[in-house]
Amino acid sequence: MSISDRDARTASRTVPSRVDAVIVGAGFSGMYMLHRLREMNLSAIVFEAGGDVGGTWYWNRYPGARVDVESLAYSYSFSAELEQEYEWLERYPAQPEILRYARHVADRFGLRRDIRFDTRVTAAAYDEGGRAWRVRTEHGDVVTARFLVMSTGCVSVPKSPEIPGVGRFGGRVHHTANWPHEGVDLTGLRVGVIGTGSSGVGVIPLIAEQAADLTVFQRTAAYSFPARNRGLRPEEIAGVKANYRAFRKEQRESHFGIPVPMPTRSALEVSPEEREAAYERAWEIGGLISLMYTYTDLYTSREANDTAKRFVHRKIHQMVRDPRTAADLCPDYPVGTKRPCLDTGYYETYNRENVHLVNLRRTPIAEITETGVRTSDREHALDVIVYATGFDAITGALTSVDIRGRGGVSLRESWRTGPRAYLGIAAAGFPNLFMITGPGSPSVLSNMMVSLEQHVDWAAGAIGHLERNGLTTIEPTRQAQDAWTDHVDLVAAHTLFPETDSWYTGANVPGKPRVFMPYAAGVGQYRKRCDDIAARGYPGFTLSA
Ligand code: NAP
Repeated sequence: MSISDRDARTASRTVPSRVDAVIVGAGFSGMYMLHRLREMNLSAIVFEAGGDVGGTWYWNRYPGARVDVESLAYSYSFSAELEQEYEWLERYPAQPEILRYARHVADRFGLRRDIRFDTRVTAAAYDEGGRAWRVRTEHGDVVTARFLVMSTGCVSVPKSPEIPGVGRFGGRVHHTANWPHEGVDLTGLRVGVIGTGSSGVGVIPLIAEQAADLTVFQRTAAYSFPARNRGLRPEEIAGVKANYRAFRKEQRESHFGIPVPMPTRSALEVSPEEREAAYERAWEIGGLISLMYTYTDLYTSREANDTAKRFVHRKIHQMVRDPRTAADLCPDYPVGTKRPCLDTGYYETYNRENVHLVNLRRTPIAEITETGVRTSDREHALDVIVYATGFDAITGALTSVDIRGRGGVSLRESWRTGPRAYLGIAAAGFPNLFMITGPGSPSVLSNMMVSLEQHVDWAAGAIGHLERNGLTTIEPTRQAQDAWTDHVDLVAAHTLFPETDSWYTGANVPGKPRVFMPYAAGVGQYRKRCDDIAARGYPGFTLSA
């Protein structure tokens, strides 16, 4: 057990009855929020369902779990000392390295003393008379706080696989988002993986190396780009560290929170040869956005997107020997409209003798049985089932807490037809509630580190404004919230995103309203807008004394 583990477990379970702020979640956003509030001499307590800091990186311990943004960019910018002293090892670090970073930050800034681990927040109700939130936990703690910050993450509530017979399987069952800390030995076993999003694409090559036999159950094929992961060279680390301020500025002003040159031309204005060469270069560079950043219109024009789609299909056919398997692995929706995956050897894994792909579009799963998975044509006998079936994303963690604002109105109920949040951070009827990277903000369409720091800074700025001006509450007007929600829809409507069923639109969760949730105009533009609103004294918000 590491020192961090020990500290986390022995941390005091004393819970103050009153604080300035309750923060829910001790992932990267909750940790930074705590740090910011402390700097403002405000008291805060963080409740965290997990046994340590790290959020998504605490839970998602499956083999192959890696970040898909480069480490030197996927890191906090708030402390120049932290930036200089921390040594990243890989371009795309695996889960243990990122968790090590989260723990290092918790230790370095002494965060754990204000975090209560293994404690899930169940409810939060706004007391209009007392102008405070009353927050309850699963252990019966009740804390009164002026501010409630939901740092609950965008992909933190695993989606249960809605397949008949799920509870019947007699073998071992694992979900990638809740992987056993002690690891899982799959040597010599028959394993089935259900789901081929980022988690499936990450875990499948490594399970294939261990298991006697691996069957992949694919409903929708994923676009996966090569990670080209490698160790970082000392000179490139030194180069970024020497220019970190300029690098951070570029990140903040960029579209995705990742500094890369913006494309200037349409995919349709160049010759097929030139386009192919550009796609080849992007494929060689690898990473999440090189290919999608080759031309200006890959997210907005079907015809342009089709050129990239055909290129990736050709790549898949080059990598996968069996033509039928290759064809099954080629997605039919526009590239990039579901979150693309990054992989190391994903497609090549299907050339292994012990790996079989089941195309669920052709032979859907009928049920899970005691001994395996029965598809419409046959039974697949298994020892282990791995669900890589994703998350109730973006809103799931917010609506899983019973949050009640003015008049006892429930956030869950008021979002029944889709989430509504001004700037994606605050909701009308819920004073002093901040949702870090909430629906209607760039969130998952960006480098989350850049977006969560911006939201935390903005929330801290708003709280500071109240403090300096003797005000008690901040709450968006319904009019501003409606106008923002319409604007988010309008921006999305100019892209190809809403055309594809994905977790961005809630289409992966049966019964969830189908709304494109993230704000697609980019983090640079969004930040300007947020900063402008703060500078002008928070128009669109009601501030009360
Ligand atoms: P996901 O992208 O939602 O993928 C879930 C997969 O499970 C999909 O292929 C889905 O098929 C399938 N599925 C769900 N329910 C099913 C059912 N009942 N029967 C058969 N198949 C079913 O989830 P994820 O892979 O966990 O990734 C979610 C997000 O987390 C990523 O997009 C990314 O933002 C983040 N993430 C990042 C990394 C990284 O940084 N490297 C790694 C993991 C996750 P359908 O598409 O047909 O629904």
